[in-house]
Amino acid sequence: MTWRNETVRTNFEEVLRRNPGETEFHQAVEEVFDSLDLVLDKHPEYGDQSILERICEPERQIVFRVPWVDDEGKVRINRGFRVQFNSALGPYKGGLRFHPSVLLGTVKFLGFEQVFKNALTGLPLGGGKGGSDFDPKGRTDGEVMRFCQSFMTELHHHIGEYTDVPAGDIGVGTREVGYLFGQYKRLTHRYESGVITGKGITWGGSPMRPEATGYGTVFFTEHMLTTRGRSFDGARVLVSGSGNVAHFAIEKVQQLGGTVVGCSDSSGAVYDPAGIDLELLHQVKQVERGRISDYAGRRADARFLDGVNVWQVAGEAEVDVALPCATQNELDGADAKFLVDRGVLAVAEGANMPCTPEAVAVFRGADVLFGPGKAVNAGGVATSGLEMQQNASRDAWTHEHTEARLAEIMHGIHERCAATAEEYGRPGDYVVGANVAGFSRVADAMLALGVV
Ligand code: GLU
Repeated sequence: MTWRNETVRTNFEEVLRRNPGETEFHQAVEEVFDSLDLVLDKHPEYGDQSILERICEPERQIVFRVPWVDDEGKVRINRGFRVQFNSALGPYKGGLRFHPSVLLGTVKFLGFEQVFKNALTGLPLGGGKGGSDFDPKGRTDGEVMRFCQSFMTELHHHIGEYTDVPAGDIGVGTREVGYLFGQYKRLTHRYESGVITGKGITWGGSPMRPEATGYGTVFFTEHMLTTRGRSFDGARVLVSGSGNVAHFAIEKVQQLGGTVVGCSDSSGAVYDPAGIDLELLHQVKQVERGRISDYAGRRADARFLDGVNVWQVAGEAEVDVALPCATQNELDGADAKFLVDRGVLAVAEGANMPCTPEAVAVFRGADVLFGPGKAVNAGGVATSGLEMQQNASRDAWTHEHTEARLAEIMHGIHERCAATAEEYGRPGDYVVGANVAGFSRVADAMLALGVV
């Protein structure tokens, strides 16, 4: 990377020096910094007040041991994390990820992204993230519960409705949030609903929270398509993953008249020319917790593509839109080129940082609409913000009302990104729009609050 601005360059070098080996964190910072020379030219006060240096240093990082006992009576040890990144705009807010690949650097990359994503929603939310290298796959309900209870036994010291509000992410859904909230309630003797989001509907949850990230991704993409006079109606779509985000992205694409011809899991992809049967996908992946190949085996015209990613399906079928909804760095430069060569019109990140920097460069260099994750997938955390509002007012909203609010927020994010890109002389560049709009909101609040 050749930096165009000296302040940006020296700050990035400092990030590399201070956080050795945390490559995903470096990548997330580099991606935001790449847009910041434009801002610093207009606002030298950000440089004078060391905002770049401050914004890259989490306010607090908590790393802890999580001991638990498995069903065989064996003692297991995992590592727990909570990185409280930035609270200029509100209490720290962000999910917990339970996955064997989770390291401190992973949580820092996710927390850093979260700061700007939350700022883009326009809601009063700071940014944080947490998780553990615990792998819920193959664990019984009892094991997952004991792990969650042990995890919360440490975490409860650090969170609260006005302090830090966790939620789900990969490996953490309603079941885990339930065990975590139950233990928090027991330890604190408080029914503090607003301490965690992603709760079940009967115990303080929001009706739209499970759908929110996937639906929001599709709402944002629809707005991008509109700028080219297109829509999801009749569009052919690839969605990577088959978890929560992918599932509800597929559902909304189908409601808007599109056909999702492929999805995937870590074992391979499925090509289903007739369009994904969501009920069957749910049965295989969520109920049976099986493999995507089982889905293909039960669908007449579907084919399992062993060990490849879903972007390869573009070699079999025409594809208009690609929605990476699985995990970080799942779509690389070669995949991007493959999609561009086959005429993809729009790519939007439902997951956090799913496109490598090379892939992003390919999309931005071609005439492709590219929506970065911090804007595209902000519907999840935005709906968490709505859940906090309901909890604070002891209210329960309807599905329709919540979806309308989500749609409005996603429209607002799209307009903010588009207007900011325009203002900074890069019309249509959602990467610049999202980075600059998110950064400016946080930076202005940090300046207002003084050196803290
Ligand atoms: N984990 C989600 C994200 O990446 C949601 C976080 C939340 O709801 O707090 O934005």
